Amino acid sequence: MHCEPFEYEKPVSLREFESLYAAKGEDAKILAGGTDLMVLIKEKLLAPRLLIDISDLHELQGISFDSRQGLTIMAGTKIAEIERSALVKEHAPALAYAAANLGSNQVRWMATMAGNICHASPAAETPPVLLAHDCELIIGKQGGERTLPISRFFLSYRKTALEPGEYLKAFRLPPLPERSAVAYRFKGLRRAMEIDMLNIGAYLELSEEGQSVSDIRLAMGSVGPTTYRATATEQRLKGMQIDDEFFATACGGVVQEASPIDDVRASAEYRNRVIGVLTRRALEECLEIIASRGNKA
Ligand SMILES: Cc1cc2nc3c(=O)[nH]c(=O)nc-3n(C[C@H](O)[C@H](O)[C@H](O)COP(=O)(O)OP(=O)(O)OC[C@H]3O[C@@H](n4cnc5c(N)ncnc54)[C@H](O)[C@@H]3O)c2cc1C
Repeated sequence: MHCEPFEYEKPVSLREFESLYAAKGEDAKILAGGTDLMVLIKEKLLAPRLLIDISDLHELQGISFDSRQGLTIMAGTKIAEIERSALVKEHAPALAYAAANLGSNQVRWMATMAGNICHASPAAETPPVLLAHDCELIIGKQGGERTLPISRFFLSYRKTALEPGEYLKAFRLPPLPERSAVAYRFKGLRRAMEIDMLNIGAYLELSEEGQSVSDIRLAMGSVGPTTYRATATEQRLKGMQIDDEFFATACGGVVQEASPIDDVRASAEYRNRVIGVLTRRALEECLEIIASRGNKA
């Protein structure tokens, strides 16, 4: 299948990229790994006049950690680097796990997390974990940048809060407080090379005495037009004791907030049945992680 012709530019500095992107406006598309974009172009769902390849921009590469700001992952970092990073494994192990589950080894060495979230598929691997971490996005454009909580990034199916001329520069995951943990759970038909039927990221923070919920975030993928936080359920769970009623409220609440559809991967009925189970498992995993840290102290 032939695609429409397009021009191709590969800027060598962030400054050159920003001015080119600002000048070309909506005619241009950013090319990171191309593992989503080139599929859309080949299928003639998109026909940009210009592709701007940012894969070699060294200013957009790297992973660092700072005890005040947390973990910073630059937008051009490959999924395979996130999967293998010692810093990610230490400070955001659920993200390393989600990265390891994305596609194949070849795909992971091409793909970026920026591409994963900017494509804004509700089934994407990394958004539930990033929402569970309450990640902050650093958004750049010529002459400036702004920050945006990821909870305000996904507007609707394949639509994000990026304005014309803006691009994603970096992810910042704040340090996790004591007695807190993040877990990621997914369900797919096979073990590799497929998009999830559904996935969930959970953040749980316990109160000082360790018996009740101080804070909680439940991020759901593939059960709505975009990945989202089940905020009504989160509100009901805050302050609850960790007991059977807590799990019942969490599992029932996420089903009530979900609006899954039937598609090639699963039926809405199946998704409604499994979402509560995955939620329970993710929360149990958070509790195990918190308990294991307590035992080490
Ligand atoms: C065989 C195969 C298997 C796959 N398996 C999975 C899977 O298991 N799970 C999963 O979630 N996905 C999967 N995918 C989809 C894809 O690999 C991921 O979504 C990937 O993370 C996209 O990243 P990329 O760098 O290739 O993005 P690209 O294709 O380069 O870009 C995707 C979109 O993001 C935009 N973009 C990229 N970077 C930026 C930036 N910095 N700022 C603003 N916009 C930007 C592009 O303009 C484009 O609109 C698979 C794809 C293939 C081909």
